[in-house]
Amino acid sequence: MSYPKLVIDRKIMDANIKDVIGKCAEQGIEVVAVVKGVNGLPGIMQIVMDAGAKTIASSRLSQLREARKLNPDIKTYALRIPMLSEVEELVESADISLNSELEVLEKINEVCEEKGITHNVIIMCELGDLREGIYNKDELKKVVLEVENELTSLHLLGIGTNLGCYGSILPTVEKMNELVELADFVSETIGRKIEVVSGGATTSFPLVARGEMPEGINQLRIGDGLYVSDLDECFHYEMHDQEALTLQAEIVELKEKPSHPIGEIAVNAFGNKVEYEDKGIRTRALIAIGKQDIGEYSHLRPLDPDIEVIGGSSDHTIVDITNAKRDYKLGDIMEFHLMYETMLMSTQSEYVDKEYI
Ligand SMILES: *Cc1c(COP(=O)(O)O)cnc(C)c1O
Repeated sequence: MSYPKLVIDRKIMDANIKDVIGKCAEQGIEVVAVVKGVNGLPGIMQIVMDAGAKTIASSRLSQLREARKLNPDIKTYALRIPMLSEVEELVESADISLNSELEVLEKINEVCEEKGITHNVIIMCELGDLREGIYNKDELKKVVLEVENELTSLHLLGIGTNLGCYGSILPTVEKMNELVELADFVSETIGRKIEVVSGGATTSFPLVARGEMPEGINQLRIGDGLYVSDLDECFHYEMHDQEALTLQAEIVELKEKPSHPIGEIAVNAFGNKVEYEDKGIRTRALIAIGKQDIGEYSHLRPLDPDIEVIGGSSDHTIVDITNAKRDYKLGDIMEFHLMYETMLMSTQSEYVDKEYI
């Protein structure tokens, strides 16, 4: 095994996932386990399934197929609104999909008819975050009526929404009530009660944990919160006591240097203009991990509270260790907990070793 390395603690991850699934189950909410944030790593998908997840979701269909290889009985759930060009692949890989375009739904129906199969769909509703979902109530009515009455190879499972992604909109009791009202409207429109009301992602979970989730929401699609606790400050809820993922990187240079660059300032390696604070001479550790492995370096959370990640480029990250109590040496390993972006990037990088403990 070599560095950089992502250490995955099976026991902690299992406990964290069971905690989330359990809290939701107490309130009649099914957790659809989202694996796209960990790139559907088979080792992690196995932990997720062993912890009790019955449905695996991803935006990438190849990850759903991988999940089925691990467990042929698992239900698969496609998150990203399907491309017209992937409909064939979609119905082969997913039992359920999220949708917002009638044209796509018609195409899915057509393909299912040819194959003699039924596909389950959840219609996404726009509640203000402004990514996917139907915004206009008349359009929603038209879509659900057509799916229910004319697209006979589709089963309209329910409706859902997505928050906290593009528009940074907080899932609140009001937003959830809005979705429940829309669900009632859809049930009334089609003349039967829809089975699923899917109230969002990890960012909706604190409502469940605080006992504030309105009745009527019976599904959440959770990824992030199964693996890391990176949103605690924002949502005033402590997700997990212990972190299951730890990233390790090795120190390749240790030197005292000025904190302000010397010379004429242009742009950095990625073409951005950056402001540099002059804090005088600092002791810095250069570690062998970079944006190619982790994305944004500021989303690394050092386990040592006395060090600070101050910058990086493709293959290097710079850590200010001036105030560190630990006596760092060349070749020492620094450890970090992850946030969504650093998890997403490091799990997909072939340059980051994965070790399960
Ligand atoms: C990614 C995604 C989720 C899961 O989000 P997390 O923040 O990882 O919980 C849920 N729903 C949709 C539509 C998604 O694209």
